Formats: sequence, structure tokens, C-alpha cells
Amino acid sequence: MIDQTERSQDVPPAAQPGYVTRTLLRWMMRPARIAAVEVLSPRFRLVDLEGEALKGVAWSVGQKLQISMGTGLTTRTYTPTWWDGERGKTRLLVFAHGEGPGSRWSEGMREGDACQFFGPRRSLDLAGPAAPLVLFGDETSFALAAALRATPGLDASYLFETTDVTQSRSVLEATGLIGASLIARAAGDAHLTAIAAEMSSRVARGAHFVLTGKAQSIQHLSRALKAAGAGSSRIKAKAYWAPGKTGLD
Ligand SMILES: Cc1cc2nc3c(=O)[nH]c(=O)nc-3n(C[C@H](O)[C@H](O)[C@H](O)COP(=O)(O)OP(=O)(O)OC[C@H]3O[C@@H](n4cnc5c(N)ncnc54)[C@H](O)[C@@H]3O)c2cc1C
Repeated sequence: MIDQTERSQDVPPAAQPGYVTRTLLRWMMRPARIAAVEVLSPRFRLVDLEGEALKGVAWSVGQKLQISMGTGLTTRTYTPTWWDGERGKTRLLVFAHGEGPGSRWSEGMREGDACQFFGPRRSLDLAGPAAPLVLFGDETSFALAAALRATPGLDASYLFETTDVTQSRSVLEATGLIGASLIARAAGDAHLTAIAAEMSSRVARGAHFVLTGKAQSIQHLSRALKAAGAGSSRIKAKAYWAPGKTGLD
């Protein structure tokens, strides 16, 4: 398994990965090139990857890609918004929340940089999603929303908790996602009460729910939806991050 834990800052980085690490990297990782980087806002970047290794790949909405952070086997996980297996291209929408190798990678990347990736692999299975679908998430879920938006004929609505509503709205609009509901995070997660009420009101209308983003918000909303009568078969959930945990997969 890939070790996704960032190495301690106190330990000086090894000059070169050891033999075992290099062998594992060669065996698991495939090379890509950063074909384009579009800075959508101070914290969000649209990143196009291309390369021979992306050709002929079977991809479906909701899958994940793990990107090597260039130190040992450390990776960070992102969601392709689309995949062109013929031309060997894919696109990520990366949120730099602050400190961490993934945030630093996205802020420092340049067109032409090389990277190594692992995947795509199964994460959320949204094949033939039942409709109407409600996606809940946060800044880390915008890529999934962009992928869902491009799904022909899908009746989906989008609800996000975000730290900066103005920045988030402009990013969503730049990716073509107009009409998503954005709710500002509040102290003590007080904003989740309104989100839970909004989502619960859709239970009686037969909605199915996809919960992503922060682990604690997912737990809160999952409980609320079940209390409102949504069975487990109508709720799919995948935590993308949790406070204090690094590199959730
Ligand atoms: C299946 C899957 C798909 C994902 N898809 C995307 C995607 O398409 N786009 C995207 O931007 N992210 C996505 N993520 C989330 C991303 O992998 C995490 O946010 C990751 O932790 C970022 O790595 P980092 O190195 O910046 O921070 P880390 O080193 O992992 O974490 C450092 C600290 O920051 C905290 N932290 C992590 N993420 C956040 C956050 N969003 N807000 C506030 N604090 C945070 C951690 O809890 C930890 O305390 C996905 C995650 C998973 C599991």
C-alpha cells in the first residue's frame, strides 16, 4: 500500500529514495506532464495532465487519481473532471487549503513539469447514478461536481460548505457550474443545521445523496438524512479530508 503520511518535518529528507522505494515507484507510478495550469483564484488551480500513460485508460466519474508528491511514496488524491483516453489527457481541479505537500504542489507547479501518478482507481461508484441526485461537499468536491455536470441527462443539484463563498462561486462559475448553493462555514459547524434541513427536505422527493468533503460534515449529514427517512441505499459517502489527518485516500 502507498504510505500517504507526510514525513516528519524534523527528519532531514533523504537525498535519493532507497532501492525499494525506487522499485515500488517504477512499478506503481506512471509518468505525466503538466500540460497547462490555470489559476482560477488564489487557492484554486485547473491542472491539465497529459502523456502516453494516460492513453487507453478506462475512467468513470467519481474515480480518484493519486499524485506522487516527489518524496518517497507520499501521494495526494485528486478527482479527474474528465479523461480523454484517446489523446492521453485529464484535468484536475486542485484546492490549496494551506499547509501540506498537495497544497504546495499546486501552488508551485508550472507548465511542462513532470509528475508521477497512480490510478485512476475506484472511489465513489456513481455509474448510472439514480436521479435526482444531490451532491454535498466543499472546495475539494468541486472537481467531482464538474465531472457530474458533464454527465449527459443527469438531474443533479449541488450544495457546498465553503470558507470563502465569493472565491468559491467564481471558481464554480469558471468551470460552468452555475446555480450551486454555497453556504459559508460557521463557528461550531452551526451552518450544517441549515444544510441538513435543506437536504432532508429532498428525501420525500426521492432524491439520492452523495456526500463528500470533510469527514465530520459527512457524518452529521448522513445522520440527518437517515433520520429524515433516507435508507442507506440512497446515500453514498466518501471523506476527502479530516482535520488533523494527512493525505486521506
Ligand atoms: C477520493 C478523494 C478525492 C479528492 N479529490 C480532490 C480534488 O479533486 N481536489 C482537491 O482539491 N482535493 C481533493 N481531495 C482532497 C485532498 O486530497 C486533501 O485535501 C489533501 O489532504 C490535500 O493534501 P495536502 O498535502 O494539501 O494536505 P495534507 O498534508 O493532507 O493535510 C495537512 C493538514 O491540512 C488538513 N486539510 C486537508 N485538506 C483540507 C481542506 N480541504 N481544508 C482544510 N484543511 C485541510 C489536514 O486535515 C491536515 O491537518 C480528494 C481526496 C480524496 C480522498
